[in-house]
Amino acid sequence: MAREFARGFYHSVAWKHARAAYMALPVTAQDGRICPPGMCERCFSRGVLAPAEIVHHRVHLTPANVRDRAIALDFSNLMRVCRDCHAELHSPEGAAPRVAFDEYGRVVPR
Ligand SMILES: [Zn+2]
Ligand SMILES: [Zn+2]
Repeated sequence: MAREFARGFYHSVAWKHARAAYMALPVTAQDGRICPPGMCERCFSRGVLAPAEIVHHRVHLTPANVRDRAIALDFSNLMRVCRDCHAELHSPEGAAPRVAFDEYGRVVPR
């Protein structure tokens, strides 16, 4: 089933604010180029501009860390991505995406 442990978090005002603020932020890529607000950071790093739909946690949320603000809310752990990139980030290397997402961009089993 869906990630029940994170349900409260994804409904929280703190997350909604952090997600909206991060989406609207220019992000400096590793090579110093600026990923424009609202664009997928992973596609941008490959020279493609695609609208981001999901704010992903680089360190994935778990029941143990969902209340840790440095993991759950700090911009350093966030990454905005399109749906394709998000599926790839949550799939084993080289495998076809095996996950789907709910309306909050949370990973749910297919
Ligand atoms: Zn992408
Ligand atoms: Zn994710």
